[in-house]
Amino acid sequence: SDNTNWLSSIFCLKIRTFSMATSLTIIQNFINNEYFPAKNFIASYDPAIGEVWAKVPDSDAEEVEQAYQAAKKAFSGWKKTTVEERSRLLLKIADILESRLEEFAIAESRDNGKPISVAKNGDIPRAVLNFRFFATSILHYQNRSTYQEAYSALNYTTRHPIGVVGIIAPWNLPMYLLSWKIAPCIATGNTCVCKPSELTSVTAYMLCDVLLQAGLPAGVVNMVFGYGSKVGEAIVSHPGIPLITFTGSTATGKIIQRSSAEHCKKLSLELGGKNSGIVFSDADLEKCIPTIVSSCFANQGEICLCTERLFVHEEVFEEFLEKFVEATRKLKVGDPTSPASTTGSLVSKDHLDKVKSYINMAVKQNGKIRCGHLVDDLDLSPRNKNGYFILPTVLTGLKDDSCVNQEEIFGPVVTVTTFTTEQEVIERSNNISYGLSATVFSRDVGKVHRVAQALDVGTVWCNCWVIRDLRMPFGGTKKSGLGRESQDDSLDFFTEQKTVCVKIDV
Ligand code: NAD
Repeated sequence: SDNTNWLSSIFCLKIRTFSMATSLTIIQNFINNEYFPAKNFIASYDPAIGEVWAKVPDSDAEEVEQAYQAAKKAFSGWKKTTVEERSRLLLKIADILESRLEEFAIAESRDNGKPISVAKNGDIPRAVLNFRFFATSILHYQNRSTYQEAYSALNYTTRHPIGVVGIIAPWNLPMYLLSWKIAPCIATGNTCVCKPSELTSVTAYMLCDVLLQAGLPAGVVNMVFGYGSKVGEAIVSHPGIPLITFTGSTATGKIIQRSSAEHCKKLSLELGGKNSGIVFSDADLEKCIPTIVSSCFANQGEICLCTERLFVHEEVFEEFLEKFVEATRKLKVGDPTSPASTTGSLVSKDHLDKVKSYINMAVKQNGKIRCGHLVDDLDLSPRNKNGYFILPTVLTGLKDDSCVNQEEIFGPVVTVTTFTTEQEVIERSNNISYGLSATVFSRDVGKVHRVAQALDVGTVWCNCWVIRDLRMPFGGTKKSGLGRESQDDSLDFFTEQKTVCVKIDV
């Protein structure tokens, strides 16, 4: 409509100014396809320069209720649309998002501190893919049926959308993870109230404009911005929202599980990790070291799948460590907007302080810093002097039970230790409360499969890292979460199944 085009042209103007540090993006809640100016705001920083660059609505239960009512009203119409209609809309969203890839990538990089190359080649293309993937998947999603000859009974199942869904997302892969939830949620006929992280809300706000342009009916997707303790809590405790999909920390996951218990809500929890990398003596070091460097330090180590504990066979430990440290030192930490930077800034001052405190703790516990923070110098441009940067840091000499080896740091810090036997490394790798993922490097096919089966995690990568087939289940064991996400897992999660049994010889 004209209104949509007008909104979009205003918005594009705003986006074009994103690259200038002087302009502030004033975010508004998006409810029932309308924007609502906020009364109170949270300051959101560009972490690479340490300056406020956006104002995020500090919403509360009132706005969540308003969004819920819009989503509830929209549900009655949306659930009756055909899969083809929903699929077409998802494809349209993907196309519009893709046509604005550059703007979204710049905004994501500035909001989060991630290198522009990561946002441009990783986060935003993946968000586009998420919509395309579920646009196709939904067309092939079918019900089951059986016939029991002995009883002349025909059994069939039907799948139904659940209603208004609560979607809560973290700051590390803002658009990537938000779209990974929105796409299957609306593809299956649900409507939703979404809450992006208060630290990185800009691209979610931009997405609202894409949804309008694509012609998504009012109320299908609503975005309420603000703190987890207010907006998140109001979504989780809302009696009319029977399903919550959450990605974030284990601490918040536990709170959500507790508050959801009151209403027996259906939950998907993608939580923290403390992932190990295991390097056997027969691994091809030349090939695996670049992969391991990425697995530890990609996106400044701010990916739940990053490796934080490396176990290296004693026979190759010295050679590995020397080459690994050398490769780590070559990473270019710097302005995220520069294509030359491989590593950007951490998301916030608080998070930087937390990561540094783990390194200080490691030193106190006789850990040795092989490269990075406290031993090497950061070389930043004047523009980035107040940014939240830290060098990728490699630590050795720490015990398995030290807190640095047991707690999720979620930054560019990895510990390296030796091991002797396969059995020993399996036990040590499993001896942790998390179970998200692990990587194994060896040229022995039998060993790779043996170890993969023995590791108590949701995903094992062998001689690679983070290659994802979206049809395959993703999720964690132990304190890394509850449930799985993938083509079928996500579509199953967002639907309720009913079995009907009909005796036909009557
Ligand atoms: P977080 O738990 O602090 O916040 C995540 C989201 O929850 C935010 O939107 C936040 O505002 C909201 N929230 C906070 N308190 C809440 C409450 N009481 N009720 C409802 N919502 C609340 O996590 P974070 O710091 O944003 O993200 C980093 C964490 O996310 C890391 O632990 C990382 O491992 C994890 N993560 C996991 C995966 C995965 O797939 N397993 C992927 C990415 C990130």
